[in-house]
Amino acid sequence: TPAKRPRVRFAPSPTGFLHVGGARTALFNWLYAKKFDGDFLLRVEDTDRARSTDESTRAIFEGLEWLGLTWDEEVVYQGANVARHYADAHRLLETGAAYRDFTPPSVMEKLRADAEARGETFRFDRALAEVSPEDLALKLANNEPYAIRFKVPEGTTEWPDLVHGRIAFPNKDIEDFVILRSDGTPVYNMAVVSDDIAMAITLVMRGDDHISNTPKQILLYRALGAEVPQFAHVPMIHGSDGKKLSKRHGATAVGDYQHQGLLPQAMLNFLALLGWSPGDDIEVMQMPELIQRFSAHGLHAKAAVFDTKKLEWMN
Ligand code: GLU
Repeated sequence: TPAKRPRVRFAPSPTGFLHVGGARTALFNWLYAKKFDGDFLLRVEDTDRARSTDESTRAIFEGLEWLGLTWDEEVVYQGANVARHYADAHRLLETGAAYRDFTPPSVMEKLRADAEARGETFRFDRALAEVSPEDLALKLANNEPYAIRFKVPEGTTEWPDLVHGRIAFPNKDIEDFVILRSDGTPVYNMAVVSDDIAMAITLVMRGDDHISNTPKQILLYRALGAEVPQFAHVPMIHGSDGKKLSKRHGATAVGDYQHQGLLPQAMLNFLALLGWSPGDDIEVMQMPELIQRFSAHGLHAKAAVFDTKKLEWMN
């Protein structure tokens, strides 16, 4: 049982329909909030202006509403918070946790291309960004654009993942990553951490395709003097052939099932059992039972298998 009132969130990028994987992440977060009398928040991660659409945002709302996964408080639109993301990146610059990088994008591209040609992966070297105090004054006076990079400290970054157990990344494998681009826009990790702090999120539960972002995010929480939340990385969903879920395995949009006349409770049961088992063979549960039995520790670390035959049976 969590020590304080839990606050979890579902943070979809509105770049397509609501996918079964996304709906499952939303459901697990929602179940967790209900079980522990917490808050389930919705954040639309619309910072990628080119790919985000209102149509997709509407499809996400519609899918969640159909499933009864109602959210607490007002929807947060990440794009409305860029001024805070920017301010947080500059705060890290002021405290010395980050530094300016004036390297022109063309030079960076060349360095990356050269490394690739040698069969290596490019790693940014902090020394590249070093400038003398006189040079810095000059560049700032000339309004030369710069990116802000986070200064990754030495050591190891680890966390007790509720699904995977202890996960550890040696910091030497993490490049000094950009937190604010030279055009002034925040990168994904900066925006997410800034928003999760502002929303007082206590547990971040999301797909395990985000595991490699988590050490960077933990470093940002610490540098910003914020409490690090708990993390639970939910396994991906695969088709019965073990491959990444795609249309070949059946409809992957929640809306398709809704329009086929499927009952929302059948969909909820099906989603709940993708990567989670309540400990026995019970397969058809009503909401109160799902809430009561749900535990993040019961989530499987291995990929879940998508089998629409089961869905038909539950309906
Ligand atoms: N917007 C991200 C996604 O759609 C999720 C970010 C997160 O949950 O931290 O994959």
